[in-house]
Amino acid sequence: MKTVIMAGGRGTRISSVASDIPKPMIKIEGMPVLEREIACLKKQGFTDIIITVSHLGNIIMDYFGDGSKISPVTGESFGVNIEYYYENKPLGNAGALFELKDRLNEDFLLLNADAMFDINFKRFVAYHKKMGGLVTLFTHPNSHPYDSGLIVADNCGTVEKWIAKEDIRPQFYKNRVNAGLHIISPSVLDIRPETEKVDLDRQLLKPLAGTGKMYIYDSPEYVKDMGTPDRYYTVCEDVRTGKVTAKNLGNKQKAIFLDRDGTINKYVGFLRNIDQFELLDKVSAAIKKINESGYLAIVVTNQPVIARGEVSVKELESIHNKMETLLGLDGAFLDAVYYCPHHPDRGYEGERPEYKIQCDCRKPKPGMLLKAARDFNIDLANSWMVGDGENDIKAGKEAGCRTALITKEDDRYNQDLTVMSLWQFVEEIL
Ligand SMILES: [Zn+2]
Repeated sequence: MKTVIMAGGRGTRISSVASDIPKPMIKIEGMPVLEREIACLKKQGFTDIIITVSHLGNIIMDYFGDGSKISPVTGESFGVNIEYYYENKPLGNAGALFELKDRLNEDFLLLNADAMFDINFKRFVAYHKKMGGLVTLFTHPNSHPYDSGLIVADNCGTVEKWIAKEDIRPQFYKNRVNAGLHIISPSVLDIRPETEKVDLDRQLLKPLAGTGKMYIYDSPEYVKDMGTPDRYYTVCEDVRTGKVTAKNLGNKQKAIFLDRDGTINKYVGFLRNIDQFELLDKVSAAIKKINESGYLAIVVTNQPVIARGEVSVKELESIHNKMETLLGLDGAFLDAVYYCPHHPDRGYEGERPEYKIQCDCRKPKPGMLLKAARDFNIDLANSWMVGDGENDIKAGKEAGCRTALITKEDDRYNQDLTVMSLWQFVEEIL
């Protein structure tokens, strides 16, 4: 599969870090970010690369040549084949793709040149092939969803809505942001918009929302743009500490599994109404700390209100959107939310019989944790389950995790750690 890297454009917001070199050549721990991208691709066998360049593009072309040159950083060949497309006049970030059309005869990876990432590309490509869409977007939660564009998808992963930064957004939304890594079919380039410049997001991708031809690929792997000096320094630190590589899903992950009611939000018995959902004190700060630690933050919650017919799946999703929105406003995010909609006992009025089953996911069974472990390559022995009930501790132990009980009493379920709050848990182990 070919890879197209978009390296045109100016980096005005980051010019205080480096103004005389193009953004993709800004060094992170001594190596240009674009070289880091190319190294990540090469390691996974993606060696056929086209780079589109414009402003100061000669610096990029001189540095990498055709890909056989020796890197001044590593002393070894870049080890890839690179072709270029030089924009003489600005074409917008997608205009060059139409000029390259003849060289793109199968689905290709399209990446931004100024993002730091280390992702498992083979997994991403395999997912794209399985779904069979025209476009698959690499999506993830981020720490500032309130000022990011959002992607809304259905449960099959089909993109329903593309909410750009400037669009009006719903009051509560899922924290799912386009990370700027895509797999695209060349047939997306069949018709060129008539404008002189072509914007990838607004003119090519957004119109595919709601057509059933574009899919999301949710992943907790490390992808960060370096649009501002602050983000640039964070990325440098994350490279230095090994966090960027560690989060590649080819490597074993560690997670903190979180119960919902009584751990994240105030316990109100069966939570049936979205207005009853309120975050507990310092939960956002605690989850933010988990996000920064390299642990995945994954909610695993029993929601028998679905089986009881008291809350619909749509309503539960709205409640979870509220949870993600409130956390997002405080800069915190969840890597995934798993819920068990089942309940074993039949015979109540209004119940939904299809959910009245003995399942493997209802805690104290460990099904949700085991599924998350498969989905995200998690080492359960290196992970924690945190909750306020015996079911949480049992499920955590059954899955092979360490366990922490949140309680203000003297409850003992053989947990490894007893704390008063999620915040206290985070303070003790991180
Ligand atoms: Zn279940």
